[in-house]
Amino acid sequence: GKLQEARLKDLTDTKGVKAVTVLFSDLEGRLHMLDYDKKFLVNSFDNLTFDGSSIRGFTAQKESDLRLGLDWGSFYWAPADVFGSGKALVFGEVIDKDGKPYAADLRGMLKQFANEQYKQNGYTLNAANEIEGFLFDGVDAERSFAKTGAFEYVNAGGYYHSLPGDPLREFIDTAAEVQRAMGFENEKDHPEVAPSQFEINYTYGEVVSAADQIQLYKLICRQIATQMGMTASFLPKPVTGVNGSGMHTNVSITKDKKNLFWDANGQEKISPMAWDFIDKILTAGNDLCLLLNASVNAYRRLDPHFEAPNQIKASATDRGSMIRIPIGNEKSARVEVRSVGPDANPYAVLLSVFKTGLEGEIGKIENLRQAERYLPDNIYTAIENFRGSAWAGKLLGEDVKGRYADLKQASADRCARLLGTIVKAPEVQFH
Ligand code: GLN
Ligand code: MG
Ligand code: MG
Ligand code: MG
Repeated sequence: GKLQEARLKDLTDTKGVKAVTVLFSDLEGRLHMLDYDKKFLVNSFDNLTFDGSSIRGFTAQKESDLRLGLDWGSFYWAPADVFGSGKALVFGEVIDKDGKPYAADLRGMLKQFANEQYKQNGYTLNAANEIEGFLFDGVDAERSFAKTGAFEYVNAGGYYHSLPGDPLREFIDTAAEVQRAMGFENEKDHPEVAPSQFEINYTYGEVVSAADQIQLYKLICRQIATQMGMTASFLPKPVTGVNGSGMHTNVSITKDKKNLFWDANGQEKISPMAWDFIDKILTAGNDLCLLLNASVNAYRRLDPHFEAPNQIKASATDRGSMIRIPIGNEKSARVEVRSVGPDANPYAVLLSVFKTGLEGEIGKIENLRQAERYLPDNIYTAIENFRGSAWAGKLLGEDVKGRYADLKQASADRCARLLGTIVKAPEVQFH
């Protein structure tokens, strides 16, 4: 439509742009990028194909050809010092050979969910994610860890500690500047509780673009860190004995610009609709867990001693609860889902949180909001819960659910094997 025409014109008119990078994510949330020459893209945008068989969790080898459509509303100008000169970015939509949205493209699934059932009826699903990460010395620190068994901090800092000239501060400033240049509306940024840990906050957005921005945020952080000879790691618990990294997921729903989660007279000043949303998520806490905490390492983070939640509860204050209700006002009233790791697939996270909160069921669990119920403490239990969950099948469809569980199973097994051979210390657990 109009948007497509306008973007094509922008691309053609903007002489500085020479290539367009099309981004899409696999089932586990790994970002993939294909670069198209601008002229080729402008002429052939409706006939872009790629080999899906090399993307984990996508098609089987014998039916490997997939198409890419462009989401014309998701263009970003790419700063040259980070992305190389003359590039624009756009998110792609994976399409199967019959022209239908490809089932394992969770971005497409999220978009369809948000648009067809909600946006068209005037509801906007909003998300703001607080993405924590660590800055470690040396490029490729995650890979070297296998050899050295250690990560090196670049600062001894701690919460809010931010002296000018400190490498962590320099990293945060540079990453925030790149985000601003790409259109993120930054709000605050700070070193986090653990040494060498950071969090850069930007304003909320509609679900699909919020998830896109998570992918871009991590990409930008990794690029900037590499340029500084360092590594930005989004492992949920890279270092034992200090705080891990979360991706607290704050959500709200608006209609006609009105925040439907706000209620000045409601319990914790949120509305019955918000409480209903919370109850549905608490009910499905164990069903969703593998989508929100998607790696072996994520289960090491879920320890309330380090402000990370393993209790399937809702609370205004207790940071060990899966759900917290932050203090807010008419504009900012929201529900915070805390038990999310920064290495989860953001499309899966937002799809499962919203779909469950809106369309899930409220279980007959006594004292649901405060009951003593816990998230699994290792990925194998989470996989078992997920495979056994009928709700997970409704969330993703049975086929995609199975593929996702198989991928997680394979990586858990791989990790167990690696830990058995490389790390000899008997006290090392693989969750
Ligand atoms: N790092 C904590 C977590 O893993 C959160 C700490 C905070 O934001 N105050 O969730
Ligand atoms: Mg925060
Ligand atoms: Mg934080
Ligand atoms: Mg938070």
